[in-house]
Amino acid sequence: MAQHVLVTGGAGYIGSHACKALKAAGYVPVTFDSLVTGWEQAVKFGPFERGELADRARLDEVFAKWQPVAVMHFAALSQVGEAMKEPGKYWRGNVGASLVLIEAAVAAGCLDFVFSSTCATYGDHDGVMLDEDTPQTPLNSYGASKRAIEDMLKDFGAAHGLRSVIFRYFNVAGADPEAEVGEFHQPETHLIPLMLDAIEGKRAALTVFGTDYPTPDGTCIRDYVHVMDLVDAHVLGLKWLEAGKGSRVFCLGTGRGFSVREVIDHSRAVTNREVPIVLGDRRAGDAVKLVSGSERAIAELGWQPARSTLAQMIGDAWKWQQSGHYDR
Ligand code: UDP
Repeated sequence: MAQHVLVTGGAGYIGSHACKALKAAGYVPVTFDSLVTGWEQAVKFGPFERGELADRARLDEVFAKWQPVAVMHFAALSQVGEAMKEPGKYWRGNVGASLVLIEAAVAAGCLDFVFSSTCATYGDHDGVMLDEDTPQTPLNSYGASKRAIEDMLKDFGAAHGLRSVIFRYFNVAGADPEAEVGEFHQPETHLIPLMLDAIEGKRAALTVFGTDYPTPDGTCIRDYVHVMDLVDAHVLGLKWLEAGKGSRVFCLGTGRGFSVREVIDHSRAVTNREVPIVLGDRRAGDAVKLVSGSERAIAELGWQPARSTLAQMIGDAWKWQQSGHYDR
């Protein structure tokens, strides 16, 4: 019988792509999502259970019904700007809710746990190449909340035998090349979809957040990873846990950084259209440069981020963006 995997946030951007990858790998992804930021139309690859993570009784019901072999935990609040203004929302919505989920998983005997963490747990490190051993000194409550959940997983590992694979993502971009699912946040805050909206005239212009950073062209540098490569790593992480290899942290980046201006230049080349831009102030909470080596994921998981070129990420996002959107 096919094995079920509980995917929190399975109706969101990364979670929906993970469901597609899980199904392709022979699992049944069971989406658990509140639909506060997710989209029911994105649940295409397995059953859907609507619920709030903070609702322990609902979680217990879902664990009992599907008997999942593992949890992939994507559901989270993830906007740096909002986190700067409303830290309580992040501590409650990310840390508090994840505690309920982790306790429910342990109680159900579901002890393999794949967690979606972030390079925002690192903070600023003067542009050095980040890796799994770099100290985590987050600049905002979003990063702090994710670091706290990482700590929680370690404690539950020591006390209750929970086995976790923690992925620290760099900048996730692109979409399913078949455009069955894609990126659609409301409100949208991410560079590439906002830029494509500006190209299409759906918004007047893209604002470049800061042009006086200590980088060659003055704009922030990020390491962009294709969402399909990212979710492939999650399936490999699940197999790692199934093989009994134990808890491990992996960075998922490409080792190459691109500035905001470089991303804009690539978009011009991919879409053959001009990008209307406005030069703006720095955005609070932004690190200058976040780039990661991914040697560990490549060597230990056999991860191959083959699709993570800017041209492919922007091309797939562009195709998705033109194929329509979810709707409530
Ligand atoms: N950015 C920008 N204008 C926007 C949105 C983002 O200049 O409208 C910049 C942002 O300051 C950062 C990079 O693009 O340097 C990537 O931001 P995004 O929000 O996509 O991801 P983050 O790095 O915050 O996870």
